[in-house]
Amino acid sequence: MNFSQDAIVKDLVLVGGGHSHVIALRKFGMKRLPGVRLTVIARDVHTPYSGMLPGYVAGHYEFDEAHIDLRPLCQFAGARLYHDEATFLDLNTKLVVCAGRPAVPYDVLSINIGSTPSFSNVPGAKDFTTPVKPINNFIERWQRLVKRVLDSPGPHRIGVVGAGAGGTELLLAIQYRLGKLLAEQGRGKDQLEFHLISRSDAILPYFAVNLQRRFGRLLANRGVNVHTNSQAENVVPGEITTAGGGIITLDETLWVTAAGAPSWLRDSGLDVDESGFIKVYDTLQSTSHTDVFAAGDIAAVINHPRPKAGVFAVRQGPPLTKNLRRVLIGKKAQPFSPQRSFLVLISTGDKNAIAAKWGWSVEGKWIWKWKNWIDQRFVHKFNKLPEMALKKPRKLHPGLADRTILNDISAIAMRCGGCGAKVGANVLTQALSDLEPVANSDILIGLHAPDDAAVVQIPDGKVMVHTVDYFKAFIDDAYVFGQVAANHALSDIFAMGAEAQSALAIATVPFGLEQKVETTIREMMTGAMNVLNEAGATLIGGHTSEGLELALGFSVNGLADREAILRKGGMIPGEVLILTKPLGTGTLFAADMQKKAKGRWIEDALKSMIQSNRKAAQCLYSHGASACTDITGFGLLGHAVEMTKASGVDVEFYLDNLPIFDGALETVRLGILSSLQPANVRLRRAIRNQEEVIKDERYPLLFDPQTSGGLLASVPSNRVQNCLTALHGVGYEYAAIVGRVSAESDNLEPITLTS
Ligand SMILES: Cc1cc2nc3c(=O)[nH]c(=O)nc-3n(C[C@H](O)[C@H](O)[C@H](O)COP(=O)(O)OP(=O)(O)OC[C@H]3O[C@@H](n4cnc5c(N)ncnc54)[C@H](O)[C@@H]3O)c2cc1C
Repeated sequence: MNFSQDAIVKDLVLVGGGHSHVIALRKFGMKRLPGVRLTVIARDVHTPYSGMLPGYVAGHYEFDEAHIDLRPLCQFAGARLYHDEATFLDLNTKLVVCAGRPAVPYDVLSINIGSTPSFSNVPGAKDFTTPVKPINNFIERWQRLVKRVLDSPGPHRIGVVGAGAGGTELLLAIQYRLGKLLAEQGRGKDQLEFHLISRSDAILPYFAVNLQRRFGRLLANRGVNVHTNSQAENVVPGEITTAGGGIITLDETLWVTAAGAPSWLRDSGLDVDESGFIKVYDTLQSTSHTDVFAAGDIAAVINHPRPKAGVFAVRQGPPLTKNLRRVLIGKKAQPFSPQRSFLVLISTGDKNAIAAKWGWSVEGKWIWKWKNWIDQRFVHKFNKLPEMALKKPRKLHPGLADRTILNDISAIAMRCGGCGAKVGANVLTQALSDLEPVANSDILIGLHAPDDAAVVQIPDGKVMVHTVDYFKAFIDDAYVFGQVAANHALSDIFAMGAEAQSALAIATVPFGLEQKVETTIREMMTGAMNVLNEAGATLIGGHTSEGLELALGFSVNGLADREAILRKGGMIPGEVLILTKPLGTGTLFAADMQKKAKGRWIEDALKSMIQSNRKAAQCLYSHGASACTDITGFGLLGHAVEMTKASGVDVEFYLDNLPIFDGALETVRLGILSSLQPANVRLRRAIRNQEEVIKDERYPLLFDPQTSGGLLASVPSNRVQNCLTALHGVGYEYAAIVGRVSAESDNLEPITLTS
């Protein structure tokens, strides 16, 4: 992770983590382009490799074998990964509008978002069928289908609408997998019924007759009902009506028809073809906006129309990368002409495959093995990345910007910090102009009427609770970092049983061109402001300076009723301990920095880190919690020791019950721990039975420092079950009973660990 922006001149934004972009990312990782900041906006952090998708469904591959993990790949490429969905382009101001974050500015944009299912206005198709894309929804739906088939008696009638290569291959994979799973239960294949529905008079309509016949025979042998000339015209639950009035009864319908394009590309004003795909020249540049590139399914190369297939998206990867580089450094993009024919390799579900080219075709197990070798080699290139030696920073390419900007960049390197390294007023005003702190009548002087200091009123009968937290960015996404930093700071207030009232921000942003600094501040503070506003904390001021690394902190004020304050002390013997969030952020983010964490682990951890502790605190309080603290830098054990000391009690933790983030045990096993861990481990002397548990693989997680961790609270035993149910009900799905409180013993060590 590197937030330095002292030499950032241009922003290259890649929308979508499709086949062409993964190639571009790898190439940018092998050869960086100094001065260019790379950002990837991706709806899915794990990109399915199309060639292996049917094999994944058939059960030949695990999820990770058939997917490319964008997170380590982006780190390899020096790219920021924004897990979000692009929804619109402002082509005049050069912004990518996203579903869940501030718009992302670009200098050069590339779009590789694949295709979307086209329901061709068939009534009911959108509501009552499962499209194969987005793939994550499909995988979820597929897993539910497997469960249903295994849990209930047949017959199960499964239909695939669309008899192209994708639909046919998918149907065969499903048939193979379900048949195998039923056989394992001692049930027969006769409980399954399959239908392949094609609007044309043949299956695989775009392929040679030889291949059509081969597949025709295969499908007949496997008992698949093939419906040709059967355009789906209407779908209702359990039934498809086809052209001519035929009715096919189905329990599950998968929609794998011709691909379509999302409407936002057309709505944004990009030149698109009649199906909505982005029209591009041979250079892969949009015919209407040459600073926008497109590749893969979403691109329609006007001079070289080709079928929508992953193989073309892969082939476009290298020329796309080359042209992105060229345009960024002020050179002309070069044309690329794709090959006309390509080797078709289609698997038949059962580790057999058919190869076809130039009108001939051949079938066999060896073809599958060959295909498997090709596919695995491709995915390995992205999931097993080479270690690159750190090179001295290279000079900026003179074509990247004009002389004035290059002079500005040199000036940044000479900054002395003599002005207190304050960020310029203009930059701050611009960056913060859209932010709207939540209204609060207690704020007498705040951001709306800036002065030397803010003035805040404490309502009658309330006491004020103060706290401060500040830390440097641990991820390359300023928006998400802003959310986590604000949430982390607010947690102290909630843990005390208070409500947040106001906050002051203290931020450090890396040196850079004004425009880049402005974007970083805007993204970070929008994230933070969303969280503060949600919590009812009005931002009343702050201070921003330039420095080497991005960092953010808040001083937060809260209000509470004096008698309602929850403290670390106050635990009563006999009470039960609840922990509201999983452990493991320290080891996971340490692994993330080493490109050893999976994208989904980090996404899950971030989701938890931006979940507010407010409702949990309210819930714990209303169920009679006697003491509470938030788990942060000292880890569970460090904070528990503070509580035992303050309460004069002993506690026992149940290791089996500790909620742990997915992946945290794996990263601990790899020996990856936070740099704070050694300091926290010193507190092991507080554990009475250390010798017994030191080898337990969960043991290190007791010391794992948490960022924006959960709450640890002591709750009366007769209310704990209701409290837990309530916590689950308000969204803390991992909240668990993790221990119990006992009277202080004569032992020096207050903590015991049991399984
Ligand atoms: C069952 C099946 C099997 C197939 N088998 C093969 C095969 O063997 N060989 C072959 O060549 N082709 C195959 N295809 C076709 C192939 O899947 C597509 O042609 C290929 O995936 C297109 O690649 P792409 O790079 O354009 O986009 P994709 O691979 O679809 O990737 C696009 C990415 O962009 C992301 N994205 C989408 N929208 C947004 C957004 N708005 N913002 C941000 N991110 C977004 C998605 O998360 C996705 O990861 C198959 C298709 C199916 C359905």
